[in-house]
Amino acid sequence: MKKKFLDRVEILAIGSELLTPYYLDTNSLYLTQQLNDFGYEVSFKTIVGDDLENLLLCITLALDRASLLLAVGGLGPTADDLTSLAFAKVLKRKLVLNKDVLRRIRLRFKKRKIAMPSSAIKQAYLIEGAVALPNRRGTAPGQWVEAGTNKIVLLPGPPHELKPMFEEFVRPRLEAQRYKHLARKVLKTTGMTESRVESLIRDLYPRKGDVKVTLLARPGQIEVHLSAVSVKSQSQAEIKLERLRKKISVRLRDHIFSEGGQELEEVVGNLLRGKKKTLAVAESCSGGLLGHRLTNVPGSSDYFLEGVVVYSNEAKTDVLAVDPSLLAKHGAVSFEAALAMARGIRQRARASYGLAITGIAGPAGGTLRKPVGLVFVALDSSEGTEVEKNLFLGSRRQIKFQSTQKALDMLRRRLLGLSVFRGEKTKK
Ligand code: AMP
Ligand code: MG
Repeated sequence: MKKKFLDRVEILAIGSELLTPYYLDTNSLYLTQQLNDFGYEVSFKTIVGDDLENLLLCITLALDRASLLLAVGGLGPTADDLTSLAFAKVLKRKLVLNKDVLRRIRLRFKKRKIAMPSSAIKQAYLIEGAVALPNRRGTAPGQWVEAGTNKIVLLPGPPHELKPMFEEFVRPRLEAQRYKHLARKVLKTTGMTESRVESLIRDLYPRKGDVKVTLLARPGQIEVHLSAVSVKSQSQAEIKLERLRKKISVRLRDHIFSEGGQELEEVVGNLLRGKKKTLAVAESCSGGLLGHRLTNVPGSSDYFLEGVVVYSNEAKTDVLAVDPSLLAKHGAVSFEAALAMARGIRQRARASYGLAITGIAGPAGGTLRKPVGLVFVALDSSEGTEVEKNLFLGSRRQIKFQSTQKALDMLRRRLLGLSVFRGEKTKK
């Protein structure tokens, strides 16, 4: 396979635990983010267990196709840590004792007043020709190895060891050698389906490879990921990106709620804080997810007063003073119930805004008149109450998420003066 300098980047995550249902390979996500930050994109990711034969296979393949290989894990002192050995075998190099590293490991144990186990010595044997990357948080050093057109970086598995090592010793080396600059931006939208977003911007998709558009979709949130590369400079990449961003923004207009990475709950929180307004929420089918999302944002106590989960009819009546006869007549999943809940919670909390969600998240419980996915979302304020009827598709969790997304977006639109709000009821 033909290789260009740092053209293909591969991450190899090593550890049998990563092949069980219990552990996630989070290191590769971190590394990908770091690499993307300064212009490298990852072409391959592989996970392999602590098995010498499989490791040899993966390393051989990776070195054939990638010019930069980051291998993570398996550098520890125990018998199942085989990374150095496997790389030495593939590269046909020896493992040699690095006295400096051994001294550092000895010192670590001495400082902690623990006798050094003989197994620890293994970590001082590095691949011939490797540069040791100091590990400030653990014993196993990282290794930087160059072999022909390959650059190989071995990093320890524990994230708290890997991250500082990468930032201090790997990132500067890679930044110095990069040959292209990458600019990235994510436009997050809500209120449109993926196919709608796509149809609005499809004709803007760049034909040349130096600018890319990717859609990332989940129910309730469609993200437009933009990237541009330049071999000249970062500002060139930024200019190319900005040109495309402007055109896309015009098409997607106020459906875009953030361009700087923020989630919808953060955007709404900042608007509330900026306008010195407060919020309380009443949730039925979303089961507290709206309150959870809002309070995930640091500093949310500035504007978030109260959230209640009123699942049963009795709770709606007891906590929010929703009229039982209203519930008997229209049902708990109704325009009228949502409206009463939003008013009830706003009054109860004496908040500027009250949001309420009531619906059928499924998978059971739907009827012909009230199918699964039917969700009423209401927003109450001193200007009046607006209620929207929605029909969401998807699993229970997806319907819950879309309900909260809708609620947050109604509030965002109101705070920005975007909603065509005519007071009292809008859509029924
Ligand atoms: P090791 O360097 O293989 O001894 O890894 C030690 C510990 O680091 C493992 O027990 C995991 O908890 C963690 N670890 C290893 N690889 C990864 C990875 N790819 N992502 C997240 N954690 C990891
Ligand atoms: Mg391991």
